[in-house]
Amino acid sequence: MSAADINVYDLVGIGFGPSNLALAIAIEEHNARCSRDEDRISALFLEKQDDFGWHRGMLFDDATMQVSFLKDLVTMRNPASDYSFVSYLHAHDRLADFINYKTMYPLRVEFHDYFRWAAARMRDVVRYSHTVTDVAPVTGGDFVDVIAATPDGVRTVRARNVSVAVGLESSLPPGVESSERVWHNLDILHRVAEFEVAAPQRFVVVGAGQSAAESVSFLHSRYPTAEICSVFFRYGYSPADDSNFANRIFDPKAVDVYYDAPADVKRMLFDYHRNTNYSVVDGELIQDLYRRQYAEGLQGRPRLRMLNASHVAELSPRPDGVRAVVEHLPTGDRESLEADAIVFATGYRPVDATRLLGAAGALCLRDDENLLRVGRDYRLQTDERLRAGLYLQGGTEHAHGMTATLLSASAVRSGEIVASVAASVADRPPAPPAADRPFALIGDR
Ligand code: NAP
Repeated sequence: MSAADINVYDLVGIGFGPSNLALAIAIEEHNARCSRDEDRISALFLEKQDDFGWHRGMLFDDATMQVSFLKDLVTMRNPASDYSFVSYLHAHDRLADFINYKTMYPLRVEFHDYFRWAAARMRDVVRYSHTVTDVAPVTGGDFVDVIAATPDGVRTVRARNVSVAVGLESSLPPGVESSERVWHNLDILHRVAEFEVAAPQRFVVVGAGQSAAESVSFLHSRYPTAEICSVFFRYGYSPADDSNFANRIFDPKAVDVYYDAPADVKRMLFDYHRNTNYSVVDGELIQDLYRRQYAEGLQGRPRLRMLNASHVAELSPRPDGVRAVVEHLPTGDRESLEADAIVFATGYRPVDATRLLGAAGALCLRDDENLLRVGRDYRLQTDERLRAGLYLQGGTEHAHGMTATLLSASAVRSGEIVASVAASVADRPPAPPAADRPFALIGDR
């Protein structure tokens, strides 16, 4: 490959989910405001999926968003943007209908469609089916080469800045592996679509968060003769704290407070407000499930079972089902359950950004607790040999607090990253030729 074949961008985004989509829009709006060409930010986003999709395996027909539609891709940063959810509704002639719906929490399928609408308008700056395999520093330290596997071979783009926003990966309990009948909720709709049992007898769902409760509700409705066993540590599902004052933990201002706080205070705040987001369920869904169980009890046909204060002590998967031994922790009693499938709704963890950043990741600095050092502007601190900017969207809860992985902050966070990148592009260094990469790259010659 010759130097002329390598395109150089001010920013290359890895991943094109809601976070980098919000960033792409923020860059477009920044560029529209620039009167001088040199202030404009050139950007390209690489996404491994072949089209835009956001947790498609959990798009239940009746599931609603857990955040206000005002926390869309743009509104908190620029209420006048025409990429807002309200603009989307207007463009689809549904604004009046939505207003009459009187909700702040649209259906997830509708919000997903909103994302797709915005992503389609950004199609010129995205390359789908591009799986980033390495980020290699370029001699001099002002650039990195972002290397991606594509259906047409390896492709390299050069970047002054990189924004990593690759979302979360599913977390299974230690020793549990996904298999034909052992699922994580992330894939539940895909798994069910492939499932060919006419009248399944039983499902086990592990966990007591929003995903678990939605999975229980979905399976209970979808398979009207199956028993659904909800297994979790706590005594009962607990409601998400979405009360007015506590909800301020998601405000942009809270990020400033959190970022500057001492480590023990950060931990204290996180622990106090964990129940705004983690291991909690929307109050209405709890009531709905309770109502169903109560009605079944009255009718003498109970099939929604809450196996509380319990855990799965043994799991034996087979190609056509599983056997799960559930232990009731207060008594030690054990019950063996034969099930068609078990769903682990046991949460998510951020993807390790340094793994994804490859050679550049090895130059990222860490603190005494081995956590990545990251600036208020979401820029990773790196060894002085690397001056190209590496920005992280997600995976910075330890620095920025609860919103680091959440949609709530994506609009404002994007604006902050754009401001940081814009400040650096004014005195851009000239791009070095391709031969200046210090690392040998397989298949890229
Ligand atoms: P979560 O809130 O982290 O809940 C995970 C659950 O799994 C907890 O009950 C946890 O138990 C349990 N668990 C974890 N490890 C376990 C293990 N080894 N063995 C047994 N149980 C284990 O995850 P989530 O429910 O997927 O929710 C994650 C985020 O997605 C939240 O922000 C949620 O609001 C969001 N979400 C949104 C929607 C929506 O918009 N409609 C739908 C689903 C999820 P502990 O109680 O002991 O922690």
